[in-house]
Amino acid sequence: MLTLALTKGRILDETLPLLAEAGIVPAEDIRASRKLIFASNLPALRLLVLRGVDVPTYVRYGAADLGVAGKDCLLEYASDAYYEWLDLRLARCRLMTAAAKGRTPITGRLRVATKYVRLARQHYAAKGQQADIIQLYGGMELAAVMNLADEIVDIVDTGNTLEANGLEPLDLLADISSRLIVGRASLKLKHAELSTLLERIEQALKDRADS
Ligand code: AMP
Repeated sequence: MLTLALTKGRILDETLPLLAEAGIVPAEDIRASRKLIFASNLPALRLLVLRGVDVPTYVRYGAADLGVAGKDCLLEYASDAYYEWLDLRLARCRLMTAAAKGRTPITGRLRVATKYVRLARQHYAAKGQQADIIQLYGGMELAAVMNLADEIVDIVDTGNTLEANGLEPLDLLADISSRLIVGRASLKLKHAELSTLLERIEQALKDRADS
């Protein structure tokens, strides 16, 4: 039995069509269910539906053999216990800093709100900018609006969320897309089964690129 961990939300919405093109279909409608574990049309494959940050953890500990997660989560929670196998080119967006539009430049220490604590630390350290990082779990824009933070580090897609809250994007930290990760231990122990599944997904991606 193989276990594939999927990231719920926007990434799931974009992953399911790709999996379908690879001939992998959940046995029931994932989005209409509150279950977290699903059988698939392939008798030897089950699917888990998790928060993105938890996908690398499941794969790292072997509770899932492979997973789909945003590059943002992989960068923040880097581990050498899995391979980043494929760039699925799904759910593309950018990880950026942002601040109130037209704010006066800040000298001295910055306060930065983000859920990407490690990446934010690295970014400001690389700029030589002293920064106190405040960890939040959602609604980062509000932290800037309410002066909890001078800047935020967050995912930007269309920029509409920033715009709606009077913020503007500043520095790019990373271009993000969803990646397929494979556990190192699983690849050794279940090489044959995994290879067949990985080939299917690789082929579906190739077909997309060709069309
Ligand atoms: P937007 O208003 O289109 O710039 O989208 C920004 C908001 O949507 C942010 O609060 C993000 O958390 C979320 N978001 C956009 N794209 C993604 C993605 N590919 N993965 C995860 N979250 C995203």
